[in-house]
Amino acid sequence: PEQGELVLDVQAIRKEFGGLVAVKDISFQIRAGQIVGLIGPNGAGKSTTFNLISGVLSLTSGNVVFRGEKIGGLRSREIAARGMSRTFQHVKMIPDMTVLENVALGTHLRGTKGVVSAMTRLNRSEEQQLFREAQRQLERIGMGAFLHEQAGNLAMGPQRLMEIARALCSDPALLLLDEPAAGLRHQEKLALGGVLRQLRAEGMSILLVEHDMDLVMGICDHLVVMEFGTYLTEGTPAFIQQSPAVRAAYLGTEH
Ligand code: ADP
Ligand code: MG
Repeated sequence: PEQGELVLDVQAIRKEFGGLVAVKDISFQIRAGQIVGLIGPNGAGKSTTFNLISGVLSLTSGNVVFRGEKIGGLRSREIAARGMSRTFQHVKMIPDMTVLENVALGTHLRGTKGVVSAMTRLNRSEEQQLFREAQRQLERIGMGAFLHEQAGNLAMGPQRLMEIARALCSDPALLLLDEPAAGLRHQEKLALGGVLRQLRAEGMSILLVEHDMDLVMGICDHLVVMEFGTYLTEGTPAFIQQSPAVRAAYLGTEH
C-alpha cells in the first residue's frame, strides 16, 4: 500500500458475551506505514478487539474493512490470506525444534491439525520454499544468528522476535501484535522497538496492544484508548499522555 493510504477501517465493531458487552461499537483507522497502539486497563477489551479484527471471534455487529474489502464475517485463515498477520499474547512454539523450523512450520501449521499431517502434505520444493522464506524473515529482523538454536533455549526477547518473524512470512500488509513486550527485559524492549521501527520504515502497518508505556509512547504514531469495552479517546502519544480522562481511566477514578 502507498504511504498514508487507508489500510484498516474498523467500523463500530461490537462483541457481546452473553450479557457482557466486551467491545462496544469501537471505530478507528490505520494508515499505511503507521504504528497504532491500542491501550487501556486490563479487561478494557483490547484482546477481544484483536480477535474480532483478525477473525478469531465473530462480530456481534459492525464491520471491518481491510485494504478496501469488507472482511467482517470471514474466517481467520481467509483474513490472513488477504495480508493480515498476528501474534498472540502467549508465545506458541515447539521447544525442541529449531527457530528456523518453528518459523517455517508455524507458517504452514496455521489452521492445520499437526506437524505430521502438515509435513506430509508438502512436497520437497514447497518445503524448501517455506524454509527459505522463514530464514529471510528471521534475518530481516536480526535473528540470523539464532536460526539453528533450539527454540526452547531462547530468552524471552528472541522468542518474541521469532513470533514476529513467523507473522512476517506470507508478506502481510498489517501486523497485529498482542503484548509483544510482556516479560521482556529493558534491553530486549529496546531491541523490539528497533525492529518495529524498521518494519514501519519498510512500509509495514502495525496495530499494537502493549502495556509498556515507554515502548508505546516511544514508537506509536497514534493511540486509541479503550475502557470497559468502550472507546475513550484517541490521538498522538503526547496528547494521550496529557489527557485527564486517560489518567483517570488508568487510576480507576471518576472523571
Ligand atoms: P483486555 O485484553 O483489554 O485485557 P479482553 O478483551 O481480554 O480485555 O476482555 C474484555 C472483557 O471481555 C473482560 O471483561 C473479559 O473477562 C471478557 N471476555 C473476554 N473473552 C471472553 C470470553 N470468551 N467469554 C466471556 N467473556 C470474555
Ligand atoms: Mg489482553
